[in-house]
Amino acid sequence: MTESNDWLSWVAQFTQDCADREATVNLRAARTSDVERDDQTTIEALPTVYRDTQFRSLLEACWAATLDSLHITWEYEPETFTLPSGVKYLPDFHLTEIGVWLEVKGPGIPRVEKAYELGEMLACDCPALACTCRWPGGEMVIVGHPPMPINPWLDEAYGHWPNRAKSKLVRNHGGFIRWTSTRRHNSWMTRCSGCGRATWVEGPRLRRCPACGGNPESQLYRAFENHFEFVRLPWLSGNATQPDDEDEAAA
Ligand SMILES: [Zn+2]
Ligand SMILES: [Zn+2]
Repeated sequence: MTESNDWLSWVAQFTQDCADREATVNLRAARTSDVERDDQTTIEALPTVYRDTQFRSLLEACWAATLDSLHITWEYEPETFTLPSGVKYLPDFHLTEIGVWLEVKGPGIPRVEKAYELGEMLACDCPALACTCRWPGGEMVIVGHPPMPINPWLDEAYGHWPNRAKSKLVRNHGGFIRWTSTRRHNSWMTRCSGCGRATWVEGPRLRRCPACGGNPESQLYRAFENHFEFVRLPWLSGNATQPDDEDEAAA
């Protein structure tokens, strides 16, 4: 019963699930095509198709599904930037309605230098409380990390659940979104009470929803507050989520 609530093993399992899926894709491709495969492909570089978009990795595809669940419109790799250092940089997602660029990182030590450089490049120079830019503070750059697992054994809200139901919940739940802002300030997620979108904001610059101009909910969420669920695509592993599993677990 403790096997599922260990963060590192959960990430390892998630990574393995991704690898399993990728291996399946490659196997099918090898059997149905005479095209030679590139031996240098890695987990990160292997494609996953979600909503007619081919992603470099399953993790990226899961992020796209998660953004959909948050009602956030995304474009995948729409623009390559030339950073002030002269380096080219292609961020993973542009969230066009909320003025955010999202860079998705796998487990391990992420290389985020380019994301941070882009964040500095896009930030405006206005005083925090007197910014008149289309996007408060300029467009944000967010680094998305592998999801945080749900832990019903430590969360009192699940205290009355039988252990079997807890295990099942952990198995089928995608975990929670984890992110880092490239800005040095505190960054938060909130949900707009007007349009229902989730969006990232900086505390002192939070006044209106960047998408619709409505007021955000008063509650702000930090990355570690385990509020917004990460969507784990159902084809992730052989132990695929069944549509009725969650109802059963909640019973
Ligand atoms: Zn500004
Ligand atoms: Zn809104």
